[in-house]
Amino acid sequence: MRITADYHTHTTFSHGRGSVEDNVRAAIGRGLTAIGITDHGPGHVFFGLRPGKLPLLREQVDTLNEEYAGRIRVLMGVEANITGLDGTIDIPDGLIGNFDYLLAGYHRTARLLDIGTLWHFFAANFSRGEKRVQKSTEAFVRAMERYPIACITHPGSMIGLDMDMLGEAAARTGTAIEISARHGLLPAGELRRLKERGAPFMINSDAHRPSEVGDFSRQIELAAGARLTEADVINAEGGGRGMRMARPGE
Ligand SMILES: [Zn+2]
Ligand SMILES: [Zn+2]
Repeated sequence: MRITADYHTHTTFSHGRGSVEDNVRAAIGRGLTAIGITDHGPGHVFFGLRPGKLPLLREQVDTLNEEYAGRIRVLMGVEANITGLDGTIDIPDGLIGNFDYLLAGYHRTARLLDIGTLWHFFAANFSRGEKRVQKSTEAFVRAMERYPIACITHPGSMIGLDMDMLGEAAARTGTAIEISARHGLLPAGELRRLKERGAPFMINSDAHRPSEVGDFSRQIELAAGARLTEADVINAEGGGRGMRMARPGE
């Protein structure tokens, strides 16, 4: 399997080590044809992307796109936090159009919407009872329905999710499920369940330093172990469906 784009990389706009250009150059070095810059959403208490920095990030992405035209395509995304049981993410509706695409996931360090959500996810970190897993998964499904999310990042890390329910919603909304080597490695059986429900997949590095950009070796191994093919993975060469964009129709 050959992956041609890395749609999940961090920079100094949140807590990554490299600049946007460092990641772009690393991606070119790995032979990729597209890279996405996806720093953490503003919900992170210490290192989330500051909304005031969005124009600067956009300017850098646009400039690099011109500079490296014909070699690589650079996209501006964000790794949003799911912050409410009703599927709310930490990107206000009015800001979504600033991004080319959205990733979304659960992170322990994000500010949550209300005390009910706070208590639910706190407990979900320690217990994987059926009702709790169901409720966490419903939050993810609602987020996929409410927002044009391109990909759910590292599902299964920290909290349990129902892969049948997640896979069905992913297939229905066109949201990819990330195969991550960084957090929450999904066993082959869970990847199979997602595939059987028709979920598209994405393989990303989740790089926090430039040297990690485009390193997919472990993820490809996991995909192969679950007998996924390039057609299942939207950023593989010959990958099936296109990516859900933040401004559909553009
Ligand atoms: Zn993450
Ligand atoms: Zn990340």
